[in-house]
Amino acid sequence: MPDFYNQAIEGLVIGQGVGSCGTSAYIGKRVTVIDIATHPYWAQWSELAKKANLSSCWSEPIINNRGKVIGTFAIYFEKPTSPTTKDFRLIEQFASLSRIAIEREKVDQLIWHQANFDHLTQLPNRSLVNEYIVNILKKAKRENTQFTIAMLDIDNFKDVNDSLGHSTGDALLVETSKRIKNSLRESDIIARIGGDEFIIVLTNTNGVKNIEILGKRILTALAKPYLFEEKEIYCTASIGVAIYPNDADNINQLLKNADHAMYSAKVKGRNTMHYFTDSMRTNFLKRMQLIQDLRIAVKERQFFIVYQPIVNLKNNNTYKAEALIRWQHPKKGLVSPLDFIPIAEETGLIIELSEWVFQQVLQDLKLWRGTYCENLQISINTSAVQYKNHNKQILNWIEQLKQHNIPSHALTIEITESLLMESNVLVDNIIADIRQQGVVIAIDDFGTGYCSFSYLKNFSVDYIKIDQSFVKGMSSDNNDMALCEAIIVMADKLNIEVIAEGIETAQQRQLLATAGCTFGQGYLLSKPLLKKDFEQFLINGNNEKSEF
Ligand code: C2E
Ligand code: CA
Ligand code: CA
Repeated sequence: MPDFYNQAIEGLVIGQGVGSCGTSAYIGKRVTVIDIATHPYWAQWSELAKKANLSSCWSEPIINNRGKVIGTFAIYFEKPTSPTTKDFRLIEQFASLSRIAIEREKVDQLIWHQANFDHLTQLPNRSLVNEYIVNILKKAKRENTQFTIAMLDIDNFKDVNDSLGHSTGDALLVETSKRIKNSLRESDIIARIGGDEFIIVLTNTNGVKNIEILGKRILTALAKPYLFEEKEIYCTASIGVAIYPNDADNINQLLKNADHAMYSAKVKGRNTMHYFTDSMRTNFLKRMQLIQDLRIAVKERQFFIVYQPIVNLKNNNTYKAEALIRWQHPKKGLVSPLDFIPIAEETGLIIELSEWVFQQVLQDLKLWRGTYCENLQISINTSAVQYKNHNKQILNWIEQLKQHNIPSHALTIEITESLLMESNVLVDNIIADIRQQGVVIAIDDFGTGYCSFSYLKNFSVDYIKIDQSFVKGMSSDNNDMALCEAIIVMADKLNIEVIAEGIETAQQRQLLATAGCTFGQGYLLSKPLLKKDFEQFLINGNNEKSEF
């Protein structure tokens, strides 16, 4: 067919009397027009057909196995021509072959789509984005240009999924994908490569300015509240960036480096974007090693507990202590909990670790309450994971206290502000339940979180532990002092006791006592003590022996 003809009939709507094919497609039956010039179906197009030198047109509908017309097969002649029976048979066979070809193509497309796209968000999946990157990399090599791979992970997706259900989780992912997509340029690629993980490929990002702008745009778009079933949900994301050719020259390494950078973004507070640096690789390897060692340590019980006395600043009485875990690494020596607790939390090992701590504390409480200090109260640090996913670990501890005839107020549970801030109904209920059963609740590191005051209104807690950073900076006329005083006054009004952490000097102790703080903990009063030394401490009063 000549171009002018194709252009003229492009987009024509099928219907009765719309040429041979339009009619045949519409009625689903064969239409044989022997002379176009005189046939009513062609009345509107007879001039056009004449110009294209078309005189006859026989059109056969192509019908699929569900009876639906999916096209037509037509034969044109330059002279008016009537079909023979043999012609008809041939046309039918051609139409049938066309049907097979069309349907085959459709199935192929469907299979291809399913293999390359994520069914939930309709975004390319890992395998397709890999193909894209292969090509982008080739082009960048050839043309000496730069491109960027960004790894994006939603910060609190698991919590949303666990607390609000999978359908909300799915809806969140769909909405997130849309927001990311809308923040990008036409030429950028976004793919979903796992649960809440996305890869973004930015082409033509010469200089970091572009990357910076796009990254900010994405983070801002994602941080806006999501509305599901009239509930507002807040979700942020962490982004890690690796740039070709600066950070790596092959796909695997680029992806790995972007992943390391993403991990750093998570560690450094989330809702941020981080660029890959070489030290990240080293840190990553160190971390992997530490995870491996920690698994062994938990199996082999390479831990012990030290007890740090908590002293009544008014009368020097000590019948409280905090249990702090120590890891005796077979090669590295003593590893600080600051280094391994976060990893234990991420890997879930904290549950087992904390269980071990509780069992030790249980035995010690039983022994010491029965011998040297009948009022002894021990506090245990707990992590957010121990309250999530319907975890009953701490409620179970209360049962065990009962079985050993230890009153529940002999145990204090230290929780962090961040746990309360998340304000998840399940978590709130567990904490309320624990307190109802008589276990004492203390908020650890108070003042380092965000909304310290508002949740005190909704939560009943027994103790607030003022974070060491405030105590450290305290002098008689500065802001830290004012803050400590304010916390003490507020706590007093709310009937909450205060423990000041990290008291190292006599002056700090003096200032806190004057401000009305009842309890203190810190090197000045006693360092954390080995079990045998703490026992001695209980017997003798303030005679500390060992140092940690
Ligand atoms: P934390 O709960 O704030 O514990 C107080 C930390 O301050 C302890 O560090 C303690 O040794 C240290 N400290 C006490 N007095 C002073 C002082 O006067 N000056 C200074 N500079 N530091 C003082 P540690 O034992 O290294 O523990 C660090 C953190 O690890 C703890 O902070 C706690 O969050 C966590 N942790 C320790 N044991 C456990 C545990 O069994 N489970 C969990 N989930 N976390 C634990
Ligand atoms: Ca603590
Ligand atoms: Ca603390």
